[in-house]
Amino acid sequence: MTNRSPLNRDDADPSPLPEIPAQLRAVLNGIPALVGYWDTGLRNRLANDAYCEWFGFAPRQLHGMHVRDVLGETVLEANLPHIEAALAGERQQFDRTLVDAAGQSRFTEVTYTPDTQGGAVQGFFVLVTDITERVLADRRRQRDMDRYRALARSVPGVFVLLFDAELRYLIAEGQELETFGYRREELEGQRIQDVLKGNLASELEPRYLAALAGREVSWNRQIGHRTYRLNAGPVYSDDEAAAGMVVAVDITERLQQQKVWEALHEIATEVARNAAPAAISERVAAIVRDLFNVDSAAVVRFTGASSAEIVAMAPMLPPTLSRRQIFAPTDESATVRVAVTGKPALVRYRAEGGQAAEQMRAGGFQSAAAAPIRVGGSLWGAVSLTSKSRTGVTEAMMERLAQFAELVEIAIGNTEARTDLEQQATTDALSGLPNRRALERHLAEHVAQARSRGTRLSAVVLDIDHFKRVNDTHGHLTGDVVLAEVAARLRTLARAQEIVARFGGEEFVWLLPETDGAEALRAAERARKAIASEPFGEVGFLTISAGVCEQSDAAAGSLLDCADRALYEAKNGGRNRTSRYGHASPAVQSAPAGQAQNGQARNRQAPNGTDTLGA
Ligand code: GH3
Ligand code: MG
Ligand code: MG
Repeated sequence: MTNRSPLNRDDADPSPLPEIPAQLRAVLNGIPALVGYWDTGLRNRLANDAYCEWFGFAPRQLHGMHVRDVLGETVLEANLPHIEAALAGERQQFDRTLVDAAGQSRFTEVTYTPDTQGGAVQGFFVLVTDITERVLADRRRQRDMDRYRALARSVPGVFVLLFDAELRYLIAEGQELETFGYRREELEGQRIQDVLKGNLASELEPRYLAALAGREVSWNRQIGHRTYRLNAGPVYSDDEAAAGMVVAVDITERLQQQKVWEALHEIATEVARNAAPAAISERVAAIVRDLFNVDSAAVVRFTGASSAEIVAMAPMLPPTLSRRQIFAPTDESATVRVAVTGKPALVRYRAEGGQAAEQMRAGGFQSAAAAPIRVGGSLWGAVSLTSKSRTGVTEAMMERLAQFAELVEIAIGNTEARTDLEQQATTDALSGLPNRRALERHLAEHVAQARSRGTRLSAVVLDIDHFKRVNDTHGHLTGDVVLAEVAARLRTLARAQEIVARFGGEEFVWLLPETDGAEALRAAERARKAIASEPFGEVGFLTISAGVCEQSDAAAGSLLDCADRALYEAKNGGRNRTSRYGHASPAVQSAPAGQAQNGQARNRQAPNGTDTLGA
């Protein structure tokens, strides 16, 4: 018996095999798998119907057949190492893709279990389980997972974690994973308590468990300047294995937009309440700086082609920085770009960026953005922000800046409209002087101030002599020109803190704070001479009369009333003269100017109490 091999069918034991009892056949047929038994000579001793059917033999035929005849050369070749190992007493398990009698690919799991009796291998059992469904399901899951992965990888600002019931990561994928300090390879296949840093695992465990229990849980995480929203929830799969998923999304921009809206709303409310542009500008600078997390923000007004004024700044304007700025149009600064182009600008300062850029770089600033403020269609100024980081200012910020610029625009626009109305309401259109209404307001303020401070205050009422004649002779339009000219001459005489107003008709009031009656009378006399000395074009020479009163002399009545009484005296005294209330009148009388004097009575009623005047 040399070189006998069970693989050689001729060497196999040719003795007939005993029949398989019917009861055993029934048991074998009840097993949902292919079942067979091969003896040490590799002859089939047992096979259930499924096994016979698979290889296409009738049960009686297969019984006693040699393995080479059943499997065929190719399959035998492939299985040989397993067969030899099984005959040596080692259990074998391996997968085989087979094509069944109908030509379908089947995925099978094969086990060879040695049949050992008394220490000797008698043969081995074969169990072939059809795992096609399981393999296909696995493949489907793998495909799904690959899709999840591809999706998670492709969406910016996102990462996805898939974990099983044991809190073991199945998938960890996404661009943001690294931001959180993790890599896919170190998470996948690991349980959270083994891989997460610090106390994170114990913090996350209840959330993961909640997700596995079917609930959705959300929380925020701050990483540097960015905010992430994390959502954990259950994942339902065909195989019903419990799994959970965490999706992290970068919501920094969304939060920022929300904050921008809140800030805009806050400022808009102040604008609607008519807050002063300076206050709005301060608010805008402060909010913009906080909101965009930059180092400084400012509202700047363009005061000329190459000059600007810092209206507001956050943080406060440093003492080393002048409020007034001069720039060259070529300067590489966001604000200068706005001044030149009228459009929003973003700048990263370069060494060769000109003087403005040089200054900013010296201060440690690296990037800036600015948006134009337009009022009434023309460029008014800019809202700007600067950062000490090169990436600290973004396009998105520049665009949002424009929304703040708009609010400053509205605030300024509103105020200018109000100022215009105010101006219109208090200015006399013909002469450009404050009108009676404005005068009364100034007068009330000055009277109160003189009383509280104990300072002097005087008023001069001036009236053109025989003005009716000017109208009658030269027409109303010429009359108007004369009125404007008289107003101009009077105004040049007044000092800064003094007020010359058109009281009505051809009557003017000159208010002189911190001036006594004698001084005011001299001022009135200067006015009289200024009118009388120069002719009024074709109208020729004109004269005025003036009445003067000092506040302390007016004790009982009003300052204007007593000045008016003095004026009445001057008129009565022959015109082209000045008179001071309560003093010998006319105090000063001047020789008639070019226009002849006449004794015509003034066309006005004598006020009460003129008896106090020494005529
Ligand atoms: P008297 O020396 O007494 O002041 O004589 P008068 O003619 O100046 O005084 P009166 O009050 O009689 O006339 C004032 C005139 O001033 C009457 C009015 O037509 C004229 N007047 C008032 N307002 C205007 C104005 O806005 N434009 C013009 N052109 N005339 C005006
Ligand atoms: Mg007059
Ligand atoms: Mg008059």
